[in-house]
Amino acid sequence: MKNDTLEQQLYDEEAETFRNQLATVTDEGKRKWVYPKKPSGRFHKARIVISAILLLILFLTPFIKLNGHPFMLFDFLNRKFILFGILFGPHDFHLLVIAMISLVVFVVLFTAVFGRIFCGWACPQTIFMEMVFRKIEYWIEGDSKDQRKLNSAPWNAVKFFKKFTKHIIFFAIAFLISNIFLSYIIGIDALLKIVTDPPAEHLQGLFAITVFSGIFYFVFSNFREQACTIVCPYGRLQGVLLDRDSIVIAYDNVRGEPREKFKKEEGWENRGDCIECYQCVEVCPTGIDIRNGIQLECVNCTACIDACDDIMDKIKRPRGLIRYASINSIERKTKWRFTPRTIGYSSLLAVLITVLVILLLNRTDFSVTILRTAGLLYQEQPNNMVSNLYDLNMVNKTYNKIPVMLKLENVEGELKLVGKDIVIEPQGNVDSKFLILLPKSELSKMSTPIDIGIYDGDKLIKKVSTSFLAPMKKEPKEEDHEDKD
Ligand code: SF4
Ligand code: SF4
Repeated sequence: MKNDTLEQQLYDEEAETFRNQLATVTDEGKRKWVYPKKPSGRFHKARIVISAILLLILFLTPFIKLNGHPFMLFDFLNRKFILFGILFGPHDFHLLVIAMISLVVFVVLFTAVFGRIFCGWACPQTIFMEMVFRKIEYWIEGDSKDQRKLNSAPWNAVKFFKKFTKHIIFFAIAFLISNIFLSYIIGIDALLKIVTDPPAEHLQGLFAITVFSGIFYFVFSNFREQACTIVCPYGRLQGVLLDRDSIVIAYDNVRGEPREKFKKEEGWENRGDCIECYQCVEVCPTGIDIRNGIQLECVNCTACIDACDDIMDKIKRPRGLIRYASINSIERKTKWRFTPRTIGYSSLLAVLITVLVILLLNRTDFSVTILRTAGLLYQEQPNNMVSNLYDLNMVNKTYNKIPVMLKLENVEGELKLVGKDIVIEPQGNVDSKFLILLPKSELSKMSTPIDIGIYDGDKLIKKVSTSFLAPMKKEPKEEDHEDKD
């Protein structure tokens, strides 16, 4: 029994050695170039459709405008964001923080349940790499075998022409991607100005476009799958985000093992369904063997599912030896269930989304804070008047300049701004002070409630309630009454 355990341990350790190094790095630490076979199959077809839709959305969104303003803008430099036509500025920082936390919890929850489905179906890196750049490479240089042959062949006219054409097209697409990404940051109008004006007028913008184009070109022509395995933090977090109930692209080792080459005369007795054809390995764009188990390099591209299904069709075995499944569903035949971890994440996400929705629903385009100036009660003024000094803060969250006027709504008196008239710039924030003067005769108690209207021309945009302090009226003494009588 003890020996069994030791043997098992040694076997497990041996089986796990593939985790000690990346599939795309040699023992000497050099890069192993991956030549994945052209993928095909039902998942690949579905991914082409989804990718086309997502690319269309990505390229068209910067051109969509609502009332002359971008539909989406992520102007990090000026801390200005437009989401679905709604403008968010620095004053909405709390919303951004809650939205970011919700997004992180959503990603964690989504990953715990569905694994890296995002990487395979929606990540821009995978979509551009597999659906754009790789397709162009197959078109110019052929399938994996032809590419290997071309790369090891001596330089001649054909090789030069193919490589030159490919890299020119790659750079042109990288340039296009860089322009599109920049248009999400500075807006399409600013981008068109950079592109159409004389270069000397926009040196900074042109520099940014060139640098981004160079980065994208390098990533898609050379760095490729390394971006997912070495750089992407999401990929590296898989070890802590996934558990045995997460749905991932998995090889059914219960059904597939023991694997061996198929010999018709021996039939399917005492062997697994895997026929060691290596098709799943050959199509993998990150160069891994999914039969080793879940690996951080797997971007869930589904190519191995299609390749294996194709083999299963040919050898007349059921499809799905590699499929979307959880480890528990394969090894213990359990159905997917809510684990305590997913219940916890879901509850937290529900709370965060509720808070965010409430804050968004209560968000106004214009906010005003009026507070009586600290440390001051009231001031006696000539002509039997009393004044109070107030601090005023106003935030204009709209796209328009607002010239603001303040009026007393429920009492007769005077409202005097300290300083000049107020005009608030779009996304602007103004701090000011004002005095309210009321006649003593109107003030019967120490604190009088007052309403202040904030006007844009004749249009009331906000009404704020505050209080006005006045000296206590002296009660007439009893002897005074007697004297009068
Ligand atoms: S494609 Fe399927 S049958 Fe072929 S090696 Fe991979 S898992 Fe085994
Ligand atoms: S293991 Fe399969 S799903 Fe994962 S990256 Fe390779 S081919 Fe794609």
